[in-house]
Amino acid sequence: MANSRFRAVEEAFAKEAVVAEPPAPATSDYYGCNVFGRKNMRRYLSADTRQKVYESIEQGVTLDRDVAEQVAAGMKRWAQDMGATHYTHWFQPLTGGTAEKHDSFSEPYGKGDSIETFSGKILCQQESDASSFPNGGLRNTFEARGYTAWDPSSPAFVMGDRLCIPTVFISYTKEALDYKTPLLKSELAVSSATADLLKYFGIEGDRVFAYLGWEQEYFLVDAALYAQRPDLIMAERTLIGHNSARNQQLEDHYFGAIPGRVLEFMKDLEFECYKLGIPIKTRHNEVAPNQFEIAPVYEQCNIAIDHNLLLMSLMRTVADRHGFKALLHEKPFAGVNGSGKHCNWSLGTESGVALLSPGKTDLENLRFLTLTANILKAVYDNNALLKSSILTASNAHRLGANEAPPAIISSFLGEQVTEAFEELLTSRDMVKIKGKVGYNLGIPQVPDLFMDNTDRNRTSPFAFTGNRFELRAVGSSANCSSAVSVLNTITAYQFKRYKENVDRRIASGTPMMKAILDETRETYRACRNICFDGNGYSEEWLKEAAARGLDCETSPPLCYDVLTSPRTVEVYRDTGVLTEVELKARSEICWEIYSKKIEIEARVLADLTANHILPVATRYQSFLLDNVSKMKDIFEGKEYKQVAGPEIRIIKDIAEHVSKARMLAEEMEEAVDEVCDIESERSRAVAFHDKVVPFLDEVRVHVDALEMIVDDQMWPLPKYRELLFIR
Ligand code: ADP
Ligand code: MG
Repeated sequence: MANSRFRAVEEAFAKEAVVAEPPAPATSDYYGCNVFGRKNMRRYLSADTRQKVYESIEQGVTLDRDVAEQVAAGMKRWAQDMGATHYTHWFQPLTGGTAEKHDSFSEPYGKGDSIETFSGKILCQQESDASSFPNGGLRNTFEARGYTAWDPSSPAFVMGDRLCIPTVFISYTKEALDYKTPLLKSELAVSSATADLLKYFGIEGDRVFAYLGWEQEYFLVDAALYAQRPDLIMAERTLIGHNSARNQQLEDHYFGAIPGRVLEFMKDLEFECYKLGIPIKTRHNEVAPNQFEIAPVYEQCNIAIDHNLLLMSLMRTVADRHGFKALLHEKPFAGVNGSGKHCNWSLGTESGVALLSPGKTDLENLRFLTLTANILKAVYDNNALLKSSILTASNAHRLGANEAPPAIISSFLGEQVTEAFEELLTSRDMVKIKGKVGYNLGIPQVPDLFMDNTDRNRTSPFAFTGNRFELRAVGSSANCSSAVSVLNTITAYQFKRYKENVDRRIASGTPMMKAILDETRETYRACRNICFDGNGYSEEWLKEAAARGLDCETSPPLCYDVLTSPRTVEVYRDTGVLTEVELKARSEICWEIYSKKIEIEARVLADLTANHILPVATRYQSFLLDNVSKMKDIFEGKEYKQVAGPEIRIIKDIAEHVSKARMLAEEMEEAVDEVCDIESERSRAVAFHDKVVPFLDEVRVHVDALEMIVDDQMWPLPKYRELLFIR
């Protein structure tokens, strides 16, 4: 039998019957096909109009309404050819997600006919109800007007049946109600402040950009199991669930082989991304089971962030197609790593000069040290502000939990750069920075390696990694604009102060190079305390950081106070990124969202405990009680004690956990009701943190203990071992 089977295969090979599958289309064949970028503009816009659009994108020239009319006409024809029937302004309210309101191209025309319309006016601006988006008290509900306005620097795209136009979102009173407005302003501020500094180093007329390369971590769970977890559905994380015996301790998931079902999802997701021009480059398994990462090639911040938001919504849709749910929450499962979104941030010029790379000449090295010292100073002076931009109710589970950076912002520079800075402190001359070194492994067939000039430090929140800084503290579900616009803004502010000081030195007769060297030395000296290359998870660091004057607050509501501190207000005023009124509104929104998230978690947990867990636990308890009392009919005296004893202990355990869980859940609900009555957003958020959050863990302890006792067949929710291992 076996022989004849092999023979058939051999014959098939002999006849070359194995036909190769047709090659898959190259990514470049369809890359960007759903985007109204240059390729599609060439087909749908006249040369004149195109030129105006390019000027607007590249030089920030405002488009006049005539040109907008031409663009709208071309865009509409393209979108219709792509099958779109609707259009929407696509914006980023402070809820964290994206918002769309679909309008049809179709308009009634004549008697009973309709035509498709889309004007320049609609492309440029839409008016909508702003009162239902977070506004931090900027608007009363009866004053509802808000406006979305076209951002031509991020290309329009077709998603499903609609043409999406990236826009900013502002209130009738002209305050920003979104993430994009301050981000765009912060890019302008950092770009012009950097360009001003570069003149010292002989670079003029080369535009500067801030770049961002994000790395998005996420979990996948089976959609059918997800549907049975009210906590995942309502709070996006498991509020109860005992650790499974095996989780990430074998360290076998990181970079492991990607499960087949997941790989199919990833390929589909990448396909959708490429069509939208999102330059995805990397995919791999992450540390925790069912945890993965996807990362693109870096882009200008505004585009990179739009792409990240698009990716997050694509992820959800594509996961549905594959029978998965994508979890973007920072800590969906206790006891295994949570998810972050590393933000690789750098500055560079249009002609390709990477400004955060050590250079080849003394002047390039001094430029690098100057920019870096100022970035460190910006992060040092505003470390609490940077932290407030990444700290949310959900990200608070990661920070300081030995898996992500601690809730203290410090910076890792690595040996070579630190050495160069330390040398600068004592030397009067230009300093050298060591480059990569060659290394021969001693195995002839393995080529020479080039070792980086510094190791990695995975505990550092803001680590220098050779040509960029990596802000590792951002949460996986966040709109990373929040953190990136802070980085841009504080850097711009510090660059301006530095330039004022150098100019002052020059004006009082110091030669320019000496003025730069002296000021850079003083800048580094003033912020050395932000540099820390050691273990950020250690107890000693907590003490040391406090002694160095770094902000060590871990309560998110208290961290938001910094948004309206005199220093923050001045930094934002000077750079023109946000007004004091806008900052105040943002802090109110942070408190409001924090309170709402915790309230939802507490109410879902109380419901799960009272309605799902305790009834099952008591049912199992009665089953045991019944068993124990029936044993009495058969066994007597000592023998009865021996056989019934262990079960009686379990019954007592159940009774104890049930009564404690019930009592704590009730107390938690009372606390929630009380806290909800507090008028001020700030005091309410602080009370949620202090009075409600501790209950979430306390209730859970007893429920998780019951999970280990109660009959597996009766347990009403899928367990970690089922949720966390895709087969
Ligand atoms: P890691 O090894 O840290 O996980 P990845 O390859 O997953 O790195 O991601 C690194 C990210 O950093 C990518 O998005 C990459 O494009 C980005 N990146 C590389 N160089 C720069 C730079 N100069 N500025 C900003 N981002 C950069
Ligand atoms: Mg990575």
